[in-house]
Amino acid sequence: MKKFFSAIIIFGLLVLPSAVLAQKSGFPSMRQLQSPQNPRLGFVIHGGAGVITRGSLSPEKEAEYRKKLEEAVVAGYKALQAGKSSLDAVEIAIRILEDSPLFNAGKGAVFNHDGINELDASIMNGKDLSAGAVAGLHRVKNPITLARAVMEKSPHVMMIGDGAEKFAAEQKIELVDPKYFFTQERYDALQKILEQEKKVKSGESRVERKNGTSQNMTTPNSEIRNSPTLDSPLSTLDFSELPSNKFGTVGAVALDKDGNLAAGTSTGGMTNKKFGRVGDAPIIGAGTFANNESCAVSATGWGEYFIRLGVARDISTQMEYRALPVQQAADSALEKVKKLGGDGGVIAIDKFGNIGISFNSEGMYRAYIDVNGKPVVEIYK
Ligand code: ASP
Repeated sequence: MKKFFSAIIIFGLLVLPSAVLAQKSGFPSMRQLQSPQNPRLGFVIHGGAGVITRGSLSPEKEAEYRKKLEEAVVAGYKALQAGKSSLDAVEIAIRILEDSPLFNAGKGAVFNHDGINELDASIMNGKDLSAGAVAGLHRVKNPITLARAVMEKSPHVMMIGDGAEKFAAEQKIELVDPKYFFTQERYDALQKILEQEKKVKSGESRVERKNGTSQNMTTPNSEIRNSPTLDSPLSTLDFSELPSNKFGTVGAVALDKDGNLAAGTSTGGMTNKKFGRVGDAPIIGAGTFANNESCAVSATGWGEYFIRLGVARDISTQMEYRALPVQQAADSALEKVKKLGGDGGVIAIDKFGNIGISFNSEGMYRAYIDVNGKPVVEIYK
């Protein structure tokens, strides 16, 4: 009898506080998110975070985004329902987004300072912590597929540039002419930024971050504005009102029927980034992380901040060490990004199928499958 009461007390101490926390987060609790048909399946995607405000997209454009996000989230979820792995679901959904010019990944990748598209991607398997990443690609149609090949068919975790493309050819992964990645909208966005940059260099215009700090890097999602008060002009810059800010990296996180988690992220990086710059998307632990013991995470936003804070890994670690529910862990990591001056967002899913979505930008393209197995697409705050 004594043992029975001790067990009840221990249960109360360990389990109830986290259940209360989960409810407080405003996100569905573990039980609420379990679909009756597929109690252990879960799927969430994002299409980038940034300055996406209500009214900034035409109704037609918004409908296009919603349609593509729904197509991708449904395709990934159907794969899970058909018994495929979380890695398959992540790759399937990300390929759909990479093939669309709407998102800053694959076909719709943004241009770097030299007018070249340089693509990055990564994928991670929560079951055994295997991971694959690629960066600085110019000719790989679907970088996420190459990242998976690095993980599964090479002894390495990360490959870059020409070497990665040589490996893609060996693996018979589709290569395209770099012209394939040209889209007028992205090209125009770069031209606008280059014009602004010229003005800043010639002293005609100056910029300053809203928090008063200066920044000498490309910052598509940042709160940068024209200002007459900055002392030193920036070498490369971007403005939050430019159209490029409404487009982002893509990512997916999944939980399959075997309880395995996976995460993947793919991007063109940031408009006007310096040649050779690599962001967080292909950095395991920064833009992508998955561990069956905790969660799977994919991030989007100002990569330099996400790398320095190891955001994806931080969320997993906070769940492991602090026993935080996934939503709180995601919020806490994003709070650190904000404090440091960066912005962006994350999607995450834990081993029970609870999801966490957090962002400190104006909006984030995102979609998930709800308790009834129905797709939910959201864009704004
Ligand atoms: N995180 C990406 C990068 O820094 C950009 C984005 O998510 O929009 O390359």
